[in-house]
Amino acid sequence: MRFLKNHHMEIHIISVLPELIESPFQHSILKRAEQKGLVKVFFHSLRAYSKDAKHQSIDDYAFGGGAGMVMMVEPIFNCIAHLKQSCGEFDEIIYMSPDGDLLNQKMANFYSLKKRILILCGHYKGVDERVRTHLITREVSIGDYVLSGGELAAAVFSDAIIRLLPGVLNDETSALTDSFQDDLIAPPVYTRPAEFKGWKVPDILLSGNTPEVEKWRLAQSVARTKERRPKLWDENE
Ligand code: SAH
Repeated sequence: MRFLKNHHMEIHIISVLPELIESPFQHSILKRAEQKGLVKVFFHSLRAYSKDAKHQSIDDYAFGGGAGMVMMVEPIFNCIAHLKQSCGEFDEIIYMSPDGDLLNQKMANFYSLKKRILILCGHYKGVDERVRTHLITREVSIGDYVLSGGELAAAVFSDAIIRLLPGVLNDETSALTDSFQDDLIAPPVYTRPAEFKGWKVPDILLSGNTPEVEKWRLAQSVARTKERRPKLWDENE
């Protein structure tokens, strides 16, 4: 297999609950990516940067009142400063946030070319606004809904990036034929048996006629994109 050996990416994730996010990286494709040395994911516990060594608290009540705790600026500042010192500069310091830029395939492609990114996961009511104003370079959302913490969002974001790194997927063409990669939805796929309970696989796929199969797949992709993502189709036509 050929891949660019020197494309080694670092993803650093800051969280109050690193345990919550470690598991997705310990299996399947993401695990293999680390084993191949194509990516290294680091988890940093924010509590280690608390001023209060005993209780390790990193949040406090909101100024102005109201329900919910707010993550304090100081532990986050100290954590980022320490990481910059020990790891070097980051290409981007990202805060996972429901009102951030919506994650899409283009964004995943963009970040797959970076060397070292830092992702901050929020909790509770989120982080003190001064973190967002002064420390963060980009905010990313995985969709218009609210999660209880940024960890699952960071895992989704990292997964979308890591599987694009050259050499991570076994069949190098396979990321290229995924949905959105060429602004088209992927065509339907089938495997054996050719007939199940009378449900048949399209004849063309059993024909062995590769050029015709490719034509069929493209036509299916186009039809699906028009039907399911009409905006994507209009933008790229
Ligand atoms: N009060 C905030 C939500 C806080 S949710 C608001 O209304 O905007 C707690 C944390 O979960 C956030 O700080 C963020 O890091 C993470 N989070 C929640 N939903 C998310 C989403 N859709 N995308 C990315 N991160 C999200």
